[in-house]
Amino acid sequence: MKESYDKKVALVTGSSRGIGAFTVKEFAKNNYNVVINYVNSEDEALSLKEEVERLYKVEALVVKADVSKEEEVKKLIDVTYKEFKRIDVIVNNAGIAIDTTLEDKTVDNFKKIIDINLIGTFLVCKYGGEVMLNQGFGSIVNISSTNGIDSFYPYSMDYDASKAGVISLTHNFAKLYAPKVRVNSIAPGWVNTEMNKELDEEYIKEECEHILLERFAEPQEIAEFIYYIGTQALYVNDAIIKVDGGRC
Ligand code: NAD
Repeated sequence: MKESYDKKVALVTGSSRGIGAFTVKEFAKNNYNVVINYVNSEDEALSLKEEVERLYKVEALVVKADVSKEEEVKKLIDVTYKEFKRIDVIVNNAGIAIDTTLEDKTVDNFKKIIDINLIGTFLVCKYGGEVMLNQGFGSIVNISSTNGIDSFYPYSMDYDASKAGVISLTHNFAKLYAPKVRVNSIAPGWVNTEMNKELDEEYIKEECEHILLERFAEPQEIAEFIYYIGTQALYVNDAIIKVDGGRC
């Protein structure tokens, strides 16, 4: 039996960059073996694997899978379980946004957002949860958004709808999987990642005026909270927690 079967395992979807990559590092730093999932960016995923294995002496498995495709999600869960024989934490992080005016919104783009953000989370909760229920323990953290709780920006109504759906999935899976598996969601506000790289300085300044802490979050701050909810907050279940610096 591999020595590393004793180590806990965290699988983070969409983790070759952004919040996902920081989350992988946070788990690895805390001695978890990690699964790095990517869909296009193989080089970034492999370089993250090299970094966490070198720095933290854990094993990192890199798996290409599009979370919106059922067969690929099944494979992601299967290869993870075959490699490590356990899955302690799953972070449903993969997500996209396509912000446009109402005139430019298309049904195809709306469906793409729903497929990745909502159906992807559903599929990973379904197949990952099956493994967790069989092993008798586990914890799932779904990444929603404050946009899934309130509506601030009509140009992201499709994204907002998908993230509201993630909150609903969280409540439903928490009920289905209790008491063996905890299912929670965090709802970040603005975070400094590639997702927001198109925002201009003026817009960022205006947005910061609506944040009590007067700044965007750093992805590391979100990763630390994901780790806490996923592994330390053992009496927190079925919760939706804003991590937004306080909105005003
Ligand atoms: P990001 O664009 O840097 O990361 C998103 C990741 O998801 C990328 O690695 C991307 O390749 C991956 N991905 C996209 N489609 C995928 C698919 N079909 N299968 C697998 N992976 C896929 O953005 P981020 O800011 O790091 O976002 C991470 C999560 O946090 C997303 O769910 C996002 O909606 C959420 N979020 C972000 C913010 C923010 O301000 N950045 C705020 C609230 C919530």
